[in-house]
Amino acid sequence: MSDIVEEIRTAYGRVGITLDQPATYGTYYRLLCAGCGAMVGNVGDKLLPGMAAELVDRQFDLYAARLMGCACGHQDERARALDPARWEAARRRHGGP
Ligand SMILES: [Zn+2]
Repeated sequence: MSDIVEEIRTAYGRVGITLDQPATYGTYYRLLCAGCGAMVGNVGDKLLPGMAAELVDRQFDLYAARLMGCACGHQDERARALDPARWEAARRRHGGP
């Protein structure tokens, strides 16, 4: 496991998403909901150090409002647990269930 893949795994792990085995060998990884196992997207491993955390951070509001992530709401719950104030602000701005 390369450092960058480990970094991607850690970044997505914070919002309740796990990396599956590579979909295309060593290039793309499927993103799975840590709550129910559903596929929620893909991520490439051609990122520079620090980019994965930044990417996930930029998507925080979208996870909070369930505009991204799994329909089961696991990323929403994780976002709320991580940063309740930011979660509230995101819900005010984007709405949500
Ligand atoms: Zn789910």
